[in-house]
Amino acid sequence: MGLFSALTSVLTSSSKSISSTGNTDPNLESRFFGLSNFGNTCYCNSVIQALFHCKDFRNSLIDTLAAETKSLPTTPLSPFEQEKAFTSHFNDSQPNLRGIKEQNDEEKSLFYALRDLFIKLRAQKKQTGYLQPKKLILSIKQKNEIFQNSAQHDAHELLNFVLNTIDEEMKEKSCVKELFKGTLANETRCCNCETITRREEDFIDLSLEIEQNVSISNCMAKFSAKELLAGKNKFFCDVCQSYQEAEKRMLIKNLPKIQIIQLKRFKYVERVQRLIKLSHRVAFPFEIQFNNTTLDCEHRFKNYSLFAVVVHIGSGMAQGHYVTLIRHEDKWICFDDDRVIVTNDQYVEHVFGQAIDGQTSISETGYILFYERIEE
Ligand SMILES: [Zn+2]
Repeated sequence: MGLFSALTSVLTSSSKSISSTGNTDPNLESRFFGLSNFGNTCYCNSVIQALFHCKDFRNSLIDTLAAETKSLPTTPLSPFEQEKAFTSHFNDSQPNLRGIKEQNDEEKSLFYALRDLFIKLRAQKKQTGYLQPKKLILSIKQKNEIFQNSAQHDAHELLNFVLNTIDEEMKEKSCVKELFKGTLANETRCCNCETITRREEDFIDLSLEIEQNVSISNCMAKFSAKELLAGKNKFFCDVCQSYQEAEKRMLIKNLPKIQIIQLKRFKYVERVQRLIKLSHRVAFPFEIQFNNTTLDCEHRFKNYSLFAVVVHIGSGMAQGHYVTLIRHEDKWICFDDDRVIVTNDQYVEHVFGQAIDGQTSISETGYILFYERIEE
């Protein structure tokens, strides 16, 4: 509860909770629902909230016809039967993952579980409240043994697992690549013959090394900085037919529509033989231009807008708590499991991190950033 109150104290100074009076709001985008925690499942809730508030992803998942996906039952259930099957599993009122026995292929599918939750979140008539994402949590735990124990896990690892699994399950109907996939160009220039060798690879997010008091632009520049391959790291040049010194750099060829950035805040330190958290201050602007790209890239110098931030609270990966900040008009909404709190730009700037290391043992820091391309 210590972490929880630390967050509350920051938020309550300049913000207020959304009242749960049950007002019906005609505007879908201004309804905010939290998600129950089933014991250290905030790493799931934070990722689900960020994905739900990625409108293109949410709509694409909901609109995809069940009959066109993998894991298809031989006779598709009618909407009534689906609802009946769903409620029969979740008619107990306590947050509890036990009591669920047999499942068909559809129910085992992560795509169906996430889609069902998105449909339920979107169908809510009240302005705020919370739902129990039981079926989805169960599906995640069934599909990946990494997440089966009740320990805290890495939200970034879960995000990658969810997107990759959804992509596999939706097959050709998948929106994952269309929205999140970018291309990196790994270029190596031989210092002897100047030949440039290029190898391309896809990414669905970028993991950036961080330092104290930097901005995302600094981190991106460092990501694409030239690195000299020399000594025992020399590069075998096909033209020279020998090992040569070379310059290597990683450039972005295609920027995705949704640019996800992980700040590498957990670093393994040999001396203490564990992951330590870097609470460094890393400023991430609300609008940004990504431009360290190849000359032949598509969408060069496109502008992006920040719409979601998964925040890690705590001193380490295993002890921490996660919440998600979602931009809504000129405010930010903080999703802290089943609690939904209105906050503001100042709190987002607070989670840039600590400008002086070791100020407090419990830091609240932006960990995964979601930027959307601004269509002009
Ligand atoms: Zn060469």
